[in-house]
Amino acid sequence: MVNLEISSRKYVTTPGARNAEFNLALKLHNDNTLTINGKSIHYMELKLKNVINIYKMKSSNLVCETKWERIYKRTFKWDKIWQSQIKSKASLKAKQLHWKMLHHAIFTEHKLNLIGYSDGLCTFCKSQRETVIHLFWSCINAKAIWESIIPVIESLAINTLNYEILDAEMICLLGTDFYPIKCKLINTIIMETKWFIWNRRNTYKHEKRILPKVQVSRSLKQSIKGQLKWQNESSLFTEIKKYFV
Ligand SMILES: [Zn+2]
Repeated sequence: MVNLEISSRKYVTTPGARNAEFNLALKLHNDNTLTINGKSIHYMELKLKNVINIYKMKSSNLVCETKWERIYKRTFKWDKIWQSQIKSKASLKAKQLHWKMLHHAIFTEHKLNLIGYSDGLCTFCKSQRETVIHLFWSCINAKAIWESIIPVIESLAINTLNYEILDAEMICLLGTDFYPIKCKLINTIIMETKWFIWNRRNTYKHEKRILPKVQVSRSLKQSIKGQLKWQNESSLFTEIKKYFV
């Protein structure tokens, strides 16, 4: 997911370096090493933890992070939100969708409208602009799915983490900024749910079929269980069986 590239000017740049709000370039020494947190590392031997350290060194938010903070008029612990995605046991397709959503990179009808390819109205309800928040949270399509999932998430948070979910909308859209490892089951459920909301919306848009809510909920639960079983997370699987069986 993270591409480090060596430019001709012998600098290592991070993916957001061209972005005005995130301008970080690390100087590559003549012996092809970088200094990260005081340690000298050859650029061919960079490990994931080094890349994470580079991100921790960034001085300001990514544009997408600032956009979410403007929407909700508050700040978030972004390192925890990004870690939540990595730590979750969701399928790759669900993680990718979540990542795109966090980056505001989903081609919603609203986004298509801005480039002249849509009327901007929601595919499902045809009454509101289809923004990311509308698509994944406020729309009747999303609400129909979340209403059977949110009680599970709330119950898991209270019973297993002693943590109360105060704002379900923010948690469901961004994932938790609580402990990413402890919340990996909750985040797995959240990411898989959004994947099903997206699927249901696309089936309606392209095939004019509305997948029955019961069918979607059943498939979603099967997918979460299957994912945890496949990932050999037996403790999480046992936990989820209490709620979904
Ligand atoms: Zn809608």
